[in-house]
This record gives sequence, structure tokens and C-alpha cells, in this order.
Amino acid sequence: MNHETIELAISEGKISFVGNHYEGQAKKEVDAKGAFLSAGWIDSHVHCFQDLDLYYDYPDQIGVTKGVTTVIDAGSTGENTIKDFYKLAKEAETNVYALMNISKEGIIRQDELADLRKVNEILNLARIHEMKNFIVGLKVRMSKSVIGDNGITPLKMAKELQQRAELPLMIHIGSNPPELNEIFNELDAGDVVTHCFNGKSNGILGDDGKVKAFAKAAYERGVRFDIGHGTDSFNFAVAREAFNENIKCHTVSTDTYIRNRKNGPVYDLATTLTKLLHIGYPLEELIPMVTEVPAQTWGFKNKGKLEVGADGDISLFKLVNEEVHLVDSNGNVEVTNEAIIPVGCTVAGKYFTSFTEREGLKK
Ligand SMILES: [Zn+2]
Repeated sequence: MNHETIELAISEGKISFVGNHYEGQAKKEVDAKGAFLSAGWIDSHVHCFQDLDLYYDYPDQIGVTKGVTTVIDAGSTGENTIKDFYKLAKEAETNVYALMNISKEGIIRQDELADLRKVNEILNLARIHEMKNFIVGLKVRMSKSVIGDNGITPLKMAKELQQRAELPLMIHIGSNPPELNEIFNELDAGDVVTHCFNGKSNGILGDDGKVKAFAKAAYERGVRFDIGHGTDSFNFAVAREAFNENIKCHTVSTDTYIRNRKNGPVYDLATTLTKLLHIGYPLEELIPMVTEVPAQTWGFKNKGKLEVGADGDISLFKLVNEEVHLVDSNGNVEVTNEAIIPVGCTVAGKYFTSFTEREGLKK
């Protein structure tokens, strides 16, 4: 990432020019003076199947109106429900992809893995094969309220399916059982742990306030840490301690659904990025965490980069000096004077004006 002035052109949905001065004629021009420009932001953990009751939202409310060009729904739907989701998702302006829940019904109820008859490998594989342009990975939620008495078994089933399907896997962590070390012991390089900096007792910090040795070992062998902020899963002190021990997240995502978007503490991806900026992550490291790293993690070959021939997905944003009260998932409030604000974005060259959800609070 550099701070030079650049001009960029998009033609037929793809980036056709990146440089200092574009000589051609454009049908539409956007003067983004004073804004930063990056490849389109990718939020790799959201919930945007509007027909659900528990965790739902509308793709464009999380996506293009917030400067986010691609959202990945993380396990709202499973083998039985993902086709209905796809029908709605393809109508959105935002690019929408899905991680398929290994439980056939997805998150209709909180305990989708309490009854393992809902996990059928043959049906799952058939659906993955049928919808390989939409399903970019798998999701398994490994916490007390989800798994019932099944212990680590659902994760073992997810790992087996992952190997057969040759797709990346996102693992949600939270309250025990299972114990966090049991989960981390099953994980390989490339597996994505979401809710990595949650403030729960089954989180990554031990009683001594330091990152647990097994979590550090998993990180060092290539397990990826994803924020997945959510209503309950981001804690300033945990994120700060990890940062101080050089355990930085790989990807920044929100776990947005309608309630934590409208009422906080999540609001949007820009606000989540602002929190990490406040922790100490430099902007130059943060932007790849919502562009090239999630693109590489979830297999988007033409996204996450500003290159001729890449998808014409661009995000424009500003770094503004204003006092913002940031709230984590445990109600801790910290004040920053530097906020990342979305200005606009393009999806395949179509331009959208963007704003932060927090602006709604001022009105
Ligand atoms: Zn989630």
C-alpha cells in the first residue's frame, strides 16, 4: 500500500488501468480526492440471509452501503437451506458468498450440532459440488450452546468433510465445552478460527493474562486468526495483549447481523477496523486483512488486488480525526481520535455511496 495519488479505470467489470494519469475517456468519473483507495473490502464473517429469525440481515446493508464489496455469510445456512439463500443473495448489489454450515439446517436454532443426524457427509458433498461458485468454505460452530453433549466430534466431522471437499474451514470458538485446547489440537495450517479475541474464559488468554501456549503454537503452525467481532466476541484487552505478544489477527471481519449492526457494538467493518487501528495495527497492515488476505484464504483469484484484469471492486475510505467512543463486546469503552470512514465503493465498476452505520446515531 502506498500513499501516492493514483488514477484507476474500470472497463467491463474489470480494472483496466492503474497509474498516475489515465489518458482515456470515461463514461463516469468519481473524484475521490482526499480518500484512500484500496481493492474492494471483503468481510469474511457476516449473517445475511434475510429469511432467518435468529441471525439475519440484508447483504447490501452490511455490504456496499458500508464500503464493503464482498461479504461471506458464515454458516447461516446448510445443505437444506443454502439454495433458498442463494436465490436472494444473487439479487444483491454486493458480492455474496457462503460458508456452508456442516449442519443441514444452518443456524435456524442455536444448537444446530446437538443432534449429529443433521450432519450428512454425502448430502453435504453433493451440495458443495452443485454450488461450487457460491460455497467457498465450510463453517462449524464449536461452543457449548451449539454442540450439546457432542464434545469435539462435530469438529472431527467438519475436518473430514473439509478434506473430502477440499475447501477451507472456519471454526467458531466460544464458551466451553469443548475446551479451547481440544479444538486447537485438531486444527491445521489454513484453518480459520473466528472470534479469536473474544473475552470469554475459554478464550486465548490464560489465568496469567498471557496467550495460552497451545494457542501460540497453533498460530505459529499456520492456523489463521479471524476477528468475527459480533455481539459477544471481541474484547479490547484480549486483542491488545495478543498484539503485544505479536499474535496479530490475519483477517478482520464483523459477524454482523441486523441487531449488532443497528444497536452496536459492531455497526460495520469500518468501525471494526477503527478498533484495531486504535489497538495499534498500522493502516498498511489492516487493509490487506480485508482485501488480499481474505481473498487468498477463501479462494477469490480476481479479488483483493489493484491490478489490471482484477475484478473492478474498489473501496474508498477516509481516515478522519474525530472523537469516537468505541465499545467492545463486553461493554468496555475506549476513546479514539482517529476513525476509518467508508466513502464509496464499486462492484464491477458500478459505484455506490457508502457511510458508517454510526452516523445513524447522530441523527
Ligand atoms: Zn457468526
